[in-house]
Amino acid sequence: MPAYVDDIRVIREENPFESMMSRFDHAAQLLELDPSLYKVLRVPNREITIYIPVYMEDGRIEVFTGYRVQHNFARGPAKGGIRFAPDVTLDEVRALAAWMTWKCAVVNIPFGGAKGGVICDPFHMSQIELERMTRRYTAELIDFIGPERDVPAPDMNTNEQTMAWIMDTYSMHARHTVTAAVTGKPIDLSGSRGRREATGRGLLFVIDQAVKKLDMNVRETRVAVQGSGNVGGTAARLMHESGYQIVAISDIHGGIYNPGGINVPEALDYLTKNKSFEKYPGAEPVSNHELLEVDCEILLPAATENQITSKNADKIKCRILAEGANGPTTANADRILEQKGVFVIPDILANAGGVTCSYFEWVQDRMGYFWKEDMVNERLQDIMVAAFDDVCKYAESHHVNMRVASYMLAIDRVAYVTRLRGIYA
Ligand code: GLU
Repeated sequence: MPAYVDDIRVIREENPFESMMSRFDHAAQLLELDPSLYKVLRVPNREITIYIPVYMEDGRIEVFTGYRVQHNFARGPAKGGIRFAPDVTLDEVRALAAWMTWKCAVVNIPFGGAKGGVICDPFHMSQIELERMTRRYTAELIDFIGPERDVPAPDMNTNEQTMAWIMDTYSMHARHTVTAAVTGKPIDLSGSRGRREATGRGLLFVIDQAVKKLDMNVRETRVAVQGSGNVGGTAARLMHESGYQIVAISDIHGGIYNPGGINVPEALDYLTKNKSFEKYPGAEPVSNHELLEVDCEILLPAATENQITSKNADKIKCRILAEGANGPTTANADRILEQKGVFVIPDILANAGGVTCSYFEWVQDRMGYFWKEDMVNERLQDIMVAAFDDVCKYAESHHVNMRVASYMLAIDRVAYVTRLRGIYA
């Protein structure tokens, strides 16, 4: 085996970049990746830090810190979301950018990977403050983004409106409208039908495949969903419609549990009206931490990173772990889950429906012709099912688990084109 990794990396478990790197190293070793290619692929292409001054509504100027990490361009323009959150760090954005590279490679769409983040508290900012911050962030990135360079999209706490501001700012600088500069836009602004639901729908497609593979029965399958935003809420609703029994669901404050099944549309309506699941009738309250340990066949973490760690992995009871969030499981928890025989659908496969539909949006924008929702969903299903099969086959032929297989497959694909392109000097 190549000796480019000096020794077993001791990682700080809660650092997503170190989790990503330890999995990357492991997969690279198993692939016997050429040490020169290893050197190229272990680092991001470019990291941009931006200080964003914004006039706040009270007349003060606040300066926010933002990042855009462009991890890799070998397979095409970089692609990845932008998140707004108080705890954004450069290491987190780095990990998320790398995950985008591997994710786009797993589903075999012609993009590299990038991610952006701004340290801010979007829940305590007005719309106009958010708009000014988004526009200035975009303007600072103007030379680095665009349909052929790097195409942003929504992520935590950003949405269709944020994307509309980015598209408009980019277009004002270009002096003409450039819809393909960003994806996840409102449908009326050249967004794609089905994009809003795509991550949740993609999860349903790969979960259906896993359930079939493990000879399970949909109606007897109990599911616990952590999170009820765009990913968790949509996945829970679609799975409920497909006959799965959703026994637990949560939002950022906490969740509800009913071993007999929750009426998901009703619960989500309750959440919209009351801003929390608290006092929801017919289910008992659970904390976000307890939710991970409830009796279920499928656990679907769809909130944030580092939820399943070396501290709680042995208490998890599911048969299938379907990672809706990016990085919900730390690298240190991987071995524990493997020993327990949990079938993991890793994040870079499970939640790839979002970026896959972003690819469709980019394609539609560039041809100026928009598809019906059925067409979008059908093509999404084709890609997700093919990717699931590719990873399963890779896992079986290389005798590795699904996580390791997905990294190996992705690194292999990116390494292959890197070698084909060669190194520009
Ligand atoms: N933010 C989403 C993700 O993490 C979507 C990215 C995109 O559509 O480019 O996959």
